[in-house]
Order: sequence, then structure tokens, then C-alpha cells
Amino acid sequence: MKKQSETAAKRSSAPAASILVVEDEKKISALIRKGLEEEGYSVQEAADGEKGEQMAKNGSFDLLLLDIMLPKQDGIQLLAALRAAGNDTPVLMLTAKGTVEDRVKGLDTGADDYLVKPFAITELLARVRSLLRRKKGAERAATTLSIADLTLDLVARKVFRGGKAIDLTSKEFALLELFLRNKNKTLSRSTITEHIWNYNFDTGTNIIDVYINHLRAKIDGGFDRKLLQTIRGVGYVLKENP
Ligand code: CA
Repeated sequence: MKKQSETAAKRSSAPAASILVVEDEKKISALIRKGLEEEGYSVQEAADGEKGEQMAKNGSFDLLLLDIMLPKQDGIQLLAALRAAGNDTPVLMLTAKGTVEDRVKGLDTGADDYLVKPFAITELLARVRSLLRRKKGAERAATTLSIADLTLDLVARKVFRGGKAIDLTSKEFALLELFLRNKNKTLSRSTITEHIWNYNFDTGTNIIDVYINHLRAKIDGGFDRKLLQTIRGVGYVLKENP
């Protein structure tokens, strides 16, 4: 324990990346954990596919190391469940030698990289560093949100539709950002008020509808394709297809 904390402390003051290792072979899992902890990463382990899925969904990991052959459900099923739930944590698959099909399946399911067993711990560490770097780069790049030909730039605080700049008030901008972060999801009036105004209006008020109508006129006015739609009795949705 002492050695680990010293190594971690020697590194930068940035919080250590947190990694989930899903591997049923105890020896391999322990070896991976030791290697990662010596590099200052924070490590958690799951020894079967169900536990792994549960931990990956409930925790906030920077990276998953995922074995394919696992009890209860295999790594491919686990990965498919994660991606279906919208979880895009980078995944490094660990595969047995010679199973090309598994590797292809893994990559098709959404794995970011794979490593064939047996592997050298130094190679594993190199892949881990590379995936974490890629993740950081992607996070920096994610400063715009878009749907169809509509783009919202979070940094410049500008909105464009079909290349044409659209002027929004700060409330309209916040509303559009909320819809873009929840594309294709119907948002109720109360969800919208809670997010934008942080409190609930009297139920009788139509202020949300007024704001939505202003926003709609600005982003959909003059365009054939209407993005912001009313779901009668439920709320509103920003959708690509009517
Ligand atoms: Ca295994």
C-alpha cells in the first residue's frame, strides 16, 4: 500500500484515471491491478460479466479492461449492453490467442482496442495510456452539439442552422442546449422548467410554451424540416425525423 501511494503522489496532482478490470482469472486480474496501480491508476475489479456490467453502469470509469470469456455473461454481451445504454467509456478487450472472430466481434460491438493474451504488462500499460489520451482529446473536442444541419457552439455561444447564424437570448440558448443534450427524448414541461429556471412555475402558466415558440420560430422558421416538435399532453422533443 505504501509503495502505491508514494508512486501515485510522485505523479501529477491531477486525479488518477479510474479503471475497471473485468476478468475472471484471479491471477491475471491481480497482475493487471498491480501493474496499473504502480502507474498511479485507481483500479476496481469484477470477476464476472454481470457484476462487471453493474459496476460499469453505476460507476464512473475512464477505461474498462474487458475479458471476453467470462462467467454469467461474456465480454461481448457486456459491451453490447453498455453501448446500448449510451455508455461510451473506452474499452480495451482482452482476448484469447487465435480467436480472430472474437476480436472482430469485439471491435464491431464498440471496443476501442484489443490485446491478445498472453500479453506483456508493459504493452497493456502502453495501450491504456493511448486510450486515456484519446479520451481526453475527444473530451476537449466536444465543444459543439448538433442535430441535422443545426449546430450549437458551447464555447463561442453561437448557433447555426444550415450555415446561417441564429441569434438566441440566453434562456433560448439554454433551452436549445438542453434539447440537444437530450436529442430524440421527449422532455416534459416540468423537466424543462427544473433545468432552465431551477424552480416550478404554477401549473397554469404557459410561459414555457411561449419560450418554446420563440425558440422554434428562430430555429425552424423558414426551414422545411422542423426539428422542435410538440408531443401533445407530454412535452417537447428535438428530433431529426418527424
Ligand atoms: Ca476469462
